[in-house]
Amino acid sequence: MQIVPFPHPALRFKSVDITRIDDNLRAIVREMFRLMYAAKGIGLAANQVGLPLRLFIVNASGEKEEPDEEVVFINPVIRNRKGHALGEEGCLSLPGMYADVARAEEIVVEAFDLEGQPFRAKVDELAARVIQHEADHLDGVLFIDRLDDVSRAQFAEKLKQMQAGFFEQQTQGAVLNDDELRQQLEQIASTGQAPPPSK
Ligand code: ZN
Repeated sequence: MQIVPFPHPALRFKSVDITRIDDNLRAIVREMFRLMYAAKGIGLAANQVGLPLRLFIVNASGEKEEPDEEVVFINPVIRNRKGHALGEEGCLSLPGMYADVARAEEIVVEAFDLEGQPFRAKVDELAARVIQHEADHLDGVLFIDRLDDVSRAQFAEKLKQMQAGFFEQQTQGAVLNDDELRQQLEQIASTGQAPPPSK
């Protein structure tokens, strides 16, 4: 399992609800946390590791030494958005790109945890920003989509380079082509379950 770079089709896939919370899913979540900390992130959505499932993880502290801060959101729904806040965001799928993004200041989020228990939380500040960013991922939306044209233009060159790099890998056969990747995503999405984690 690895974090897939832009423009991997998983990042534009509308993820599906998870149908079973089991040991396999718990193993995947452990691996996602490992990858997130290694990449110095504070949130990671399942489709960022090629799984088109409605799941994301957050540790707003970014510290693996603070496991109490770890929260897993399965089939999350944002119920309430209040206020406006502008703050800087980056994304593990778009390395080196940072920009101010407008988000709701406070949200209410409902989800299931890894034991299959539903929970509801009112969050604000950084946690609210991370959750909105990750929830966007599940719908195939990236933070650069939320910028105005002028702000987005600063990334045009970097995005072009990433596209060229990804295409190069596909040409060399190191990565499946887009159609094959999409087929793989459709296959997983049709079950609502993740295949066992692979290295
Ligand atoms: Zn992201």
